[in-house]
Amino acid sequence: MSTTQNKEEQFHFNADIQQLMGLIINTFYSNKEIFLRELISNASDALDKIRYKSITDPDSAGLNVEPNFKIKIIPDKNNNTLTIQDTGIGMTRDELINNLGTIAKSGTKAFMEALNSGADISMIGQFGVGFYSAYLVADKVVVLSKAVGQQQYKWESQAGGTFFIYDDSENPNQLTRGSAVILHLKQDNLEFLEEKRLKDLVKKHSEFIGFPIELQVEKTHEKEVSDDEEDNKEKKTEEGEVQEEKNKDEKKKKKKIKEVTTEFEQVNKNKPLWMKKPEEVTKEEYANFYKSLTNDWEDHLSVKQFSVEGGLEFKAVLFIPKRAPFDLFETKKKKNNIKLYVRRVFIMDDCEELIPEYLGFIKGVVDSEDLPLNISREFLQHNKILKVIKKNITKKCIEMFQELSENTEDYKKFYEQFSKNLKLGIHEDSANRTKLAEFLRFHTSKSGEEQISLKDYISKMKEGQKDIYFITGESKASVAASPFVESLKKKDYEVIYMVDPIDEYVIQQLKEFDGKKLKNCSKEGLELDQTEDEKKKFEELKSQFEGLCKLIKDILGDKIEKVQLGQRLEQSPCVLVTGEYGWSANMERIMKAQALRDPSMSSYMMSKKTLEINASHPIMTELKKKADKDKSDKTVKDLIWLLYETALLTSGFSLDDPAHFASRIHKMIKLGLSIDDAAIEEEDEKLPSLEKKSETANTEATKSKMEEVD
Ligand code: ADP
Repeated sequence: MSTTQNKEEQFHFNADIQQLMGLIINTFYSNKEIFLRELISNASDALDKIRYKSITDPDSAGLNVEPNFKIKIIPDKNNNTLTIQDTGIGMTRDELINNLGTIAKSGTKAFMEALNSGADISMIGQFGVGFYSAYLVADKVVVLSKAVGQQQYKWESQAGGTFFIYDDSENPNQLTRGSAVILHLKQDNLEFLEEKRLKDLVKKHSEFIGFPIELQVEKTHEKEVSDDEEDNKEKKTEEGEVQEEKNKDEKKKKKKIKEVTTEFEQVNKNKPLWMKKPEEVTKEEYANFYKSLTNDWEDHLSVKQFSVEGGLEFKAVLFIPKRAPFDLFETKKKKNNIKLYVRRVFIMDDCEELIPEYLGFIKGVVDSEDLPLNISREFLQHNKILKVIKKNITKKCIEMFQELSENTEDYKKFYEQFSKNLKLGIHEDSANRTKLAEFLRFHTSKSGEEQISLKDYISKMKEGQKDIYFITGESKASVAASPFVESLKKKDYEVIYMVDPIDEYVIQQLKEFDGKKLKNCSKEGLELDQTEDEKKKFEELKSQFEGLCKLIKDILGDKIEKVQLGQRLEQSPCVLVTGEYGWSANMERIMKAQALRDPSMSSYMMSKKTLEINASHPIMTELKKKADKDKSDKTVKDLIWLLYETALLTSGFSLDDPAHFASRIHKMIKLGLSIDDAAIEEEDEKLPSLEKKSETANTEATKSKMEEVD
C-alpha cells in the first residue's frame, strides 16, 4: 500500500521492548513462521472486540461502513510485502503509540528471562508481546489503523529503538475499519509470499480462528480473443509455440491467452470444533485447536469435550495445559482462559463467573444456547445459567483430574504444575473438598522418593492406628529429622510430610479424610495408644515430675503456656508444641515471612507454646534430681533457659534473642575447653542472669548440654 507521509512524530520504544526487539532481530532462529500465527491472532482478537461491540452497542461499531468481520492476507511480490489486514476494532493514535511501543508489560521482561533460560521464541504469544514477532521476518513494519469514528493513522518502525506515527488521512488506501499490518520482508524470508506456504501455515496454526481468513491468490484464466488471419499468421511465425488454437472450419480465427487476476480465497475451515461430535475429532485437531486457543507451543496434557442438554444447553471443550503459565498466581491480571460464546458468537474471554478461581489454569471454550447475545457484565454476575454452567465445568474438571490420575506419569506432570491449584481448591471449595483431597500427593516418612495419596496412606495404616499423622515444615529434610515424629516412627506409624507453605492452609480446612482425623504431630492433643502398663507408668512419671514442671513454668514465665509430660519424644529431652487451633511453628514462620501480615491477626493467632518434656531422657532425670535438691539452684535455671531455647530451634521456631542464646552457648564452650574462670566471669558480668560459679555439678550438666548442642 502506498502511503502519503505527513505530520510525522518520532517516539522511543519502552526500554524493555527495545531490548526484546533487538533479541528477536539478532537471534538465530529457524522457526520464523510463527509470526503469522501471532498477527492473525491479534487480528482475531480485534475482530472479537468489534463483534462484541456490534452486539452490545451497534451504533458505535461502524457497521454501516463495514458490515464484515474478516481477515485478509495479501502477499505482494512486486514490493516484497505481506499484509495482514482485519476489519477489527482498530487503534486510535494513542492506542498505536501505547500498544505498539511505549507501554511496558510484565510479559516483556518475563519473556526475555524465559528465553535466557532456554525457552523458545515461538512461546512469545503467551507473554503478550506477539506483535514484535513480525521482526522475525521483516526489517520494516507499517501498521495502518482506523478505529470507528476516527481518522486513519500510520505506525512505522525499522526497529532500532524508535517508531514513527503519521496522520494518514490523505492516504488513498483508506481502511473501512480495523488495521493492516504491512511487513516489508527481509530478502531471505520471501518464501512467505508463496501461496502454498501461506495456505499451509494458516492450516497449521490458525485453522480454528473464528473469522474467515482470506488469502489473496493469483488465478490464471485462459481467455479467447478473436484475431484476424493475417495477424494470426504473423504471430505464429514469430512465436511458434504461442498457445493458440485454430478452428480450421471457421474463417475467423480465435486464440487463447493467459490472463492473471487476483482474488480472495478463504483458507480456514469455519466450523467450530465444539460443534462436532467428540468421536469425530482427532487428537491432532484437538491439539491444533488448543494451540490456536492458547498460543501454547506444546500440545495439551488432557482434554474433555462435552455437552449438556435438557433444561439448559451448552457445549464445552476444556483443556489442561502441560505447564503452568508464568503468571498463574498474578491476581491482578485478568484471566482469559475460558472463552464464552453464545450460539457460536464470541462474547468474552474474561468472564469470572464461568470457572472457580482455583481452576484458573484450565483453558477452553463454552458455547451457550440459552444466554442472550446482548449481555452486560452486571447481568453475568447474578446469572443463574452461568451458575449452572460453572458447576458443570467444575465437575468435568474433577472428572478430568480423576482420569489423569489413572496414568501415573501424566499425573505426576500435572501435580508438579498444578498441585497449588488443587490445594487452593480444598481451601475454597467446600462442596468439592473431599473429592479434591483425593488428588493430593505427599512424601512421607516411608515413601522415599515417591509421593502417595491419602487413600494409599490409609490402606497402609498400622493396626490400632486411628488417625492420619502429618507434620508441616520448611523442607523434607527438616521435618524428617524433627523431634515431633520420633515416637511415631518408633511405633512404625507413617508420617506425612507437608512442606509446601500452602499445606498449612489446606489443613485448616481439611480436618479429616475418609473418616480418619488428620493430626498434626507438632500440636497439642497428640495421644498415642498406650497399653495399660504404659498408661500406669506414665501417670506415675507425671506425678514425679510435677515439681520440675512447675519450676520450669515459673522460670520461663509467659514465654510458654504450660509444661507437661509428653509421649511423642524418644531421643530429644523436650519440645515445644502449639495449641490445636493456633498457628503451628511452620505457620508462624510463614506469617513472619509475609511482610504485609495483619498485626492484629498475629497477636491472637501467634502460637501458644506448651513445653513437652521427655521424662525418660537422661537430661530430664538429672535435671529433676538437681531441682529436687535445690529449687533455687542457679545452674538449674540456666539449663532450663538453654533447654527452652534449643527446643525453640528444634521445634521450628526462631529465637527471640539469638545474642543471649549465643552467649549461653559460648559459656558452655569455654567450660568445655576449660578456659579460665576469669574470662568466664568477665563474660558473665554482661549476663547477670547466668550463674557465675563453676562447680563440678555444673560442668557435668554442661557436658550433657553440649552433647545436646551437638
Ligand atoms: P497481545 O496481543 O498479547 O496483547 P501484542 O504485542 O501482540 O500483545 O499486541 C499488543 C497490543 O496491540 C494488543 O493488546 C492490542 O491492543 C494491540 N493490537 C495488536 N494488533 C492489533 C490489531 N490487529 N488490531 C487492533 N489492535 C491490535
